Amino acid sequence: MDLGIKGKRALVCAASKGLGRGCAMALAEAGVDLVINARGAEALESTAAELRSFGVQVIAVAADITSEAGRAQVLAVAGDVDILVTNAGGPPPGIWSDWERADFIKALDANMLTPIALMKALLPGMIGKGWGRVVNITSQSVKSPIAQLGLSNAARAGLTGYVGGTARQVAEFGVIINNLLPGIHATDRAVSLDAGVVKARGITMEQAQAERAAGIPARRYGTATEFGATCAFMCSQYAGYMVGQNILLDGGAMNSTM
Ligand code: NAP
Repeated sequence: MDLGIKGKRALVCAASKGLGRGCAMALAEAGVDLVINARGAEALESTAAELRSFGVQVIAVAADITSEAGRAQVLAVAGDVDILVTNAGGPPPGIWSDWERADFIKALDANMLTPIALMKALLPGMIGKGWGRVVNITSQSVKSPIAQLGLSNAARAGLTGYVGGTARQVAEFGVIINNLLPGIHATDRAVSLDAGVVKARGITMEQAQAERAAGIPARRYGTATEFGATCAFMCSQYAGYMVGQNILLDGGAMNSTM
């Protein structure tokens, strides 16, 4: 399927590995030129090289997207983008009594205020052109809280509220904002979450993964390729009537009719 976005320009944050990388790959396959970001330069450059094999232009910016200086660095290079995919690492797990004000501020900065700052910087250009797409990578925890990820539950719920209103303010200008909610996907993040289970319960990594998969109707983890393809569709010409939605990719893990 031709997504109708060949020649557009996208900024994909936190894209050297995992879900962000999956999104960048699918956009490159659709013919989109890319600015990609992550903190570590080595993995970022290697992903950039793979993306160039699709024949698109790729600029890699090694910076911490959750810091003001990092964002300024990325935005200076990003220029006039048509598509924004926001993403960053997720907050650490714990229990409700673990977290102090500083922990919440850090999570809010990374997973709520960073995407908001990026949207505030880039939406005016999209509105001016009468076309734009934003996909925020959030989490299933927005719809169904994950008890040990209280920082994530809180920060991402805040972002979701902001997007719900903002998406409806910019849709009339052809600018479409939605959120993409991963359930468990086979990435480094899943390995680190499963490593926590291994440590807490004294089981093997294979047992932890098998137990988690057994609780999912699809009986497996999602892949970054599947996730990226959904993201690319949400950035396509055909997603113009999808406004302020929260698209859940969780293999059916959340038991809900709608
Ligand atoms: P991942 O495999 O660990 O990859 C994270 C990517 O983000 C890497 O490229 C990493 O590169 C980059 N990154 C991390 N912090 C960054 C920062 N401050 N600035 C710029 N780049 C940064 O993680 P993932 O599984 O793709 O997860 C992506 C997001 O989805 C996370 O917020 C995660 O919490 C959420 N999520 C994931 C799952 C899942 O099962 N995988 C489920 C629900 C939610 P550097 O380390 O080099 O910066």
